[in-house]
Amino acid sequence: SECLFCSIAAGEIPSSKVYEDDVCFAFNDIAPQAPTHFLVIPKAHIAPAGDYGGKFRVVAHCFEVISKVTKDLGIAQFRVVSNCGEQAGQSVFHLHFHVLAGRDMTWPPG
Ligand code: 5GP
Ligand code: ZN
Repeated sequence: SECLFCSIAAGEIPSSKVYEDDVCFAFNDIAPQAPTHFLVIPKAHIAPAGDYGGKFRVVAHCFEVISKVTKDLGIAQFRVVSNCGEQAGQSVFHLHFHVLAGRDMTWPPG
């Protein structure tokens, strides 16, 4: 696959897996921005920034996974971020949700 996150979800590129089911894959970010920093991605490739391609049930499922995994990790305070487009800081163009926790967060974000 030409997509990094498709390759990670398929297990072709190793990652530190946090959670997996039929729809979603979650793994620790390689360059963590907080003591806890993992990414939740749909296994299906959803590319366009801000356009979920009508896959809203998949997006909702990602948030169910975020709820479950944070609960399992004992994390009650966290931030979810999805960068849409280069101006917003997106660098991998496969839909993903950052989950950050374990330190004070600034608001507004930089
Ligand atoms: P974006 O900048 O697109 O919102 O987020 C992409 C994230 O993917 C970044 O936080 C970056 O550190 C992470 N990342 C990039 N390449 C890899 C990789 O090969 N493995 C893992 N685990 N994370 C990666
Ligand atoms: Zn992909």
